[in-house]
Amino acid sequence: MVPSSAFRGYFDLMNNTLEFALRTFGNLLSPAGPNGLLSILIYHRVFREIDPLLPDVVDAARFESQMEVLGSLFNILPLSEAVQRLKSGTLPARAACITFDDGYADNAEVALPILKRHKIPATFFIATGYLNGGIMFNDKVIEVIRRLDWGGLDLSDMGLGVRSLSTLPQRKETIKSLLSVLKYRPVEERRDFMDRIIDAAKLSLPTDLMMRTEQVKMLSDAGMEIGGHTVNHPIIAKLDMDSARAEIDEGRIRLEEMTGKPVSLFAYPNGIPSTDYRYEHARMIEEMGFDAAVSTAKGVGRFGCDVFQLPRFTPWDIPLSRFSFRLTGNLLRTEILTA
Ligand SMILES: [Zn+2]
Repeated sequence: MVPSSAFRGYFDLMNNTLEFALRTFGNLLSPAGPNGLLSILIYHRVFREIDPLLPDVVDAARFESQMEVLGSLFNILPLSEAVQRLKSGTLPARAACITFDDGYADNAEVALPILKRHKIPATFFIATGYLNGGIMFNDKVIEVIRRLDWGGLDLSDMGLGVRSLSTLPQRKETIKSLLSVLKYRPVEERRDFMDRIIDAAKLSLPTDLMMRTEQVKMLSDAGMEIGGHTVNHPIIAKLDMDSARAEIDEGRIRLEEMTGKPVSLFAYPNGIPSTDYRYEHARMIEEMGFDAAVSTAKGVGRFGCDVFQLPRFTPWDIPLSRFSFRLTGNLLRTEILTA
């Protein structure tokens, strides 16, 4: 029988070879200087342990191994520094940034210690209206479906018929359909719809999903960057320009009060160019004095691109080899948005 240490040696060799190959390939695709590319990863939540209802969301162990892989394949920079170096054509080879959206408490409780352990800087884009006990709409839907003990839920109003909630796959499917139908409905309509279910089932929802003010301050004090993400997380393309400006401005002011530092980075809620925000919003953010803004378009930042519409990307793959391949593959995307 082959001793297990021989297997480990073999796998270490394979991993080292793969890592070396990906780094070499990455150097060719994403060299230092004006031809450099900027990969920006986007995360939302980092659970302590895998949530069977949301198996695609990373848990602490998976996040930690992703950070190890990233640290070995990429040169991770704070986003503000990366933007300056992108503009001046002085990015290091294989440049990358880590970002988190929305302001979940687990970012401070679970992700921060891992980031600190690996000395990885990150930027946290926070929607201020949900801090200190609030719940975002997506989570309201998830937490309601998690808690309902009814066999079936009548969603005929939403064109989804009566949904059975007896099994985990049925609950997952109901969450997915409900979110896709409700996502672009008017805020009041979708809130009333969910509140009727919450009242009828006498549910109480969690109040600790989002950060508290002290946790925002803690991230900032730990050297992490805090960026704006509006107050109420609206789809800003659906607002008039004055309301969009007020959402962005107020969110920024509240974060500056919490951290005592200027906020110069912004992430568009939902972030899909042309659908969730438009070109004129990018120009407004620029005119408001921000240094850069990030979208959720796939791809990489490159010299000459619009730094107020930087693309972001995160591979969802669980096997680390596929995660690394897909990250490297993202460097081949050639789409570019210009100002
Ligand atoms: Zn968001």
